[in-house]
Amino acid sequence: MSRNSINTYLIEDFIINAGIRSSSKIILKSLANKSVSVHALTHAHADHQGSSKAICIGVNIPLWCSEQEKPQAETGNATEEYPKQNHIITKFQKRFWAVDGYKVTKTIKENYFLGEFRLIETPGHSSGHLSFFREKVAVLIVGDTVVNMNLLTTMAGLHEPPGLFTLDRERNIKSIKKLASLNPKILCFGHGPVLINNGQLEQFARRI
Ligand SMILES: [Zn+2]
Repeated sequence: MSRNSINTYLIEDFIINAGIRSSSKIILKSLANKSVSVHALTHAHADHQGSSKAICIGVNIPLWCSEQEKPQAETGNATEEYPKQNHIITKFQKRFWAVDGYKVTKTIKENYFLGEFRLIETPGHSSGHLSFFREKVAVLIVGDTVVNMNLLTTMAGLHEPPGLFTLDRERNIKSIKKLASLNPKILCFGHGPVLINNGQLEQFARRI
């Protein structure tokens, strides 16, 4: 897979998202000698919770996510909300990317804090999608509400997440506008490189 195609973030002492099933080795390796206390999910899709169980067990930390994502995170049924259950890509992800779930010990929601990051509910791509915003330096962990990559060509650029994996497009558009209204300066995506935002997100939110 190309660089930045699926991202995991270590911020303060928590790890956000966990790639696919085969990502666990490299994530665990990069966590060696680091202090981590929590693993949190923006959402429990197969491309972000595939290594959750391995990481939580590997470094002995709890898993947190929103109430709505909890069933998928715990069962590993990470493609449950995809609109087309019989699509070949849905089936592929279910078979090769997802894995057993892991017990969620705490559910988190709007205005909770993870360290200095405030939780922003951004439903649409999935029912309980969360973004994380550190106001002081305007860093935003976007998740998949917007992606910064053409998922076919891997070229960088802002896009809505693909319809195939998005539960409710209209709701997601509202969430994009909500994120743009925060005036974030540094955007960290589930897919694609980090973006220093000089109004690109706001323009994108006006266009859609
Ligand atoms: Zn994703």
